[in-house]
Amino acid sequence: MGESVTTAALVGACHCGAVGVHMPGESAGVVACHCADCQKLHGNFFAMLVADRAAVRWTGEEHIEWYRSSPANERGFCRRCGSRLAKRPVEGAKIMVSAGLFDASLERRVVKNVWTEQKPRWYDAPRVGPISPEEFVALALAEPIRGPTADYGYAMRAASGNPRPPSVIALTWITAADAGERERIRAHSRANVKDFVDEPGFISIVTGFTGLRGFTVTAWEDEDSMKRALGKHHATAMRELFGERFVASVWTSVWSATRVNRLWVRCTACGSLEDVSDDHRNCAKCSAALPPRPAYW
Ligand SMILES: [Zn+2]
Ligand SMILES: [Zn+2]
Ligand SMILES: [Zn+2]
Repeated sequence: MGESVTTAALVGACHCGAVGVHMPGESAGVVACHCADCQKLHGNFFAMLVADRAAVRWTGEEHIEWYRSSPANERGFCRRCGSRLAKRPVEGAKIMVSAGLFDASLERRVVKNVWTEQKPRWYDAPRVGPISPEEFVALALAEPIRGPTADYGYAMRAASGNPRPPSVIALTWITAADAGERERIRAHSRANVKDFVDEPGFISIVTGFTGLRGFTVTAWEDEDSMKRALGKHHATAMRELFGERFVASVWTSVWSATRVNRLWVRCTACGSLEDVSDDHRNCAKCSAALPPRPAYW
């Protein structure tokens, strides 16, 4: 037997236990069907695992009632407890078994939504696949997580590739009165970042939002380059801030260094942590090529 390829069978049961089911471990799904029939029959979407009908084994089959839900399909439910068990095409080799019959520890996620055009508006279809950066930001903005001592949000970094050490750092925060103002601040921020990247003395910016509070940490090679960049779109934004009723509170500042420490990179060959402040490219211990030296910020 190929024990490495055989996946353990999925074992499930209805609410009262009269009907049991064995499904192949490699059954497809979970698939979520949002069609009007499933809404009626399940009270919301139908979460199902899909397999060949011949590969699914039922126990207590005498308790299953098959109901012709459409000309092409029938639905099975437990006659004793009413649990919805499965859907199967009248002509066809497949069967869709309710994911609800299996233990809550089922190692599955929704991998596909079908019939979303018939989905009612009172719920969102389960998200499928890995989260994109855009979705992450949208989620962090829509539902920021608040703790007693910490607020969570998102951050982003835009860098120029400038390898020189910063001599000035701009630290700012700004609070929006509401979500609409926050979008307006973000639009300004995007325009500012475009200007910054065009300025040779710009090193990088880390910026983000926690709830309605935005922040920036921007590193510059010198103050002149910062002033040049801030003279562009940023000046327009400042005029809106002071000329209109826009933003709840704001603080800006520019810092110079008390101390700039060495920059360290781990040699991937020998594991030595190398001081690369002088931008040398080979490990001093084993002379292997070092990973590229990161920017100071
Ligand atoms: Zn039952
Ligand atoms: Zn359906
Ligand atoms: Zn080394």
